[in-house]
Amino acid sequence: MTLVYQSTRDAQNQVTASQAILQGLATDGGLFTPITYPTVDLNFDVLKHASYQEVAKLILSAFLDDFTSEELDDCINHAYDHKFDTPTIAPLVKLKGQYNLELFRGSTIAFKDMALSILPYLMTTAAKKHGLENEIVILTATSGDTGKAAMAGFADVPGTKIIVFYPRDGVSKVQELQMTTQTGTNTHVVAIDGNFDDAQTDVKRMFNDEALREKLATYKLQFSSANSMNIGRLVPQIVYYVWAYAQLVKEGDIQAGDEINFTVPTGNFGNILAAFYAKQIGLPVGKLICASNDNNVLTDFFATRTYDKRRPFKVTTSPSMDILVSSNLERLIFHLLGNDAQKTKDLMDALAEKGQYSLENVDETILELFAADFATEEETAAEIKRVYEENHYIEDPHTAVASAVYKVYTERTGDARPTVIVSTASPYKFPVVAVEAVTGRSGLTDFEALEQLHEVSGVPYPRAVDGLETAPVLHKTVVAAADMQKAVETYLGV
Ligand SMILES: *Cc1c(COP(=O)(O)O)cnc(C)c1O
Repeated sequence: MTLVYQSTRDAQNQVTASQAILQGLATDGGLFTPITYPTVDLNFDVLKHASYQEVAKLILSAFLDDFTSEELDDCINHAYDHKFDTPTIAPLVKLKGQYNLELFRGSTIAFKDMALSILPYLMTTAAKKHGLENEIVILTATSGDTGKAAMAGFADVPGTKIIVFYPRDGVSKVQELQMTTQTGTNTHVVAIDGNFDDAQTDVKRMFNDEALREKLATYKLQFSSANSMNIGRLVPQIVYYVWAYAQLVKEGDIQAGDEINFTVPTGNFGNILAAFYAKQIGLPVGKLICASNDNNVLTDFFATRTYDKRRPFKVTTSPSMDILVSSNLERLIFHLLGNDAQKTKDLMDALAEKGQYSLENVDETILELFAADFATEEETAAEIKRVYEENHYIEDPHTAVASAVYKVYTERTGDARPTVIVSTASPYKFPVVAVEAVTGRSGLTDFEALEQLHEVSGVPYPRAVDGLETAPVLHKTVVAAADMQKAVETYLGV
């Protein structure tokens, strides 16, 4: 029997894994979500000796069970190869009082590479399985990292086109240049005058626009999503939680069966949701600590059970977490409500109409698994400095948010279980912030800061920033947030 993925907003809308990956979003506006969990044999005596690819095979074959073993091998081997700068793919670094799981060793130096290096293979494999004749148009809103990682994955992949929208004033210079210098005949990058939520909201709207869908179909085109709303993004993210645990067993830092915590710098709630799924298949997880920046809507949600997006949007030094509507929280809400699609739909409608909703009668065992807090801009900078001074190791601002939140959490609760800080970006992606925090030098350009970061940290330049300053800018389109659909139609010629 194959695993069922159901829309969070319609109990009748059930598909297999490969169909869910192809569609991206459910046409009813919901997200495809597992309603039962596969049985996975998490034997850490074996897994501690396994390669990253072998752990990936175990998890993917359980969750993506309508793919054949050969298909998955092919996807995994294409994804987790020399695009990563270390054969271990996701090293676990032991620091004073914490472990940092480096998920930024891929081609765009942010954790989005962990899933986006495999998603194009999963999607084109799924297209073949279903005899799809339409060309797939990946439509993506990005707060900086998804866009680049998605384009790196989809560039020149036959049968696909990719369109990326990013907030013009909401990303770092390095992030922007990484996107606007993107090569590939099927890539298109558009800056919008608006913030990430504007971009994400309109992308979701276009997905659900039936007239637009029909129009595209007459041109043999169809949308799919590379955002973490696509289950093909989430499942590959479960892998590194199991992997991290296996490394701790291997090092003898824990015994198989011991509980550990994960602290996750959170934006769209995709990364931490993957940790939740890891727990559901039996990974011994104590707490999942949800770390936010000044856009602390999730901190408030876990404290009050009311989600209220009506608040000022703040631009911070951790832009990939500058989000007020965390899309993947919808999946957790669905589980908290006992997988009740009607109740979930009602709450999501309330969010769209009134800007808020409140939860009642929830599954308390799920809620208890989470702790949540946020770090201010000052606390984040101070944390980068503290970690550097204690370990000679430089965290990027997103990781530092998680690290700062963890430090307060462990002091406040006395919870001494080993804790992994999920490290989502290289400091080379945010060099100005990292250098200023460590050295106090301000007013540097991104490229001056890159050099200084190299000197201070001694970490080799990643390929992702090498030559970026002089690479030709290929994408210059800027549109108003209200004109995103027009930009899509113009590019596609429909
Ligand atoms: C996307 C991103 C996040 C947030 O991850 P979510 O899955 O959206 O919660 C955190 N840090 C970095 C560097 C990111 O790129």
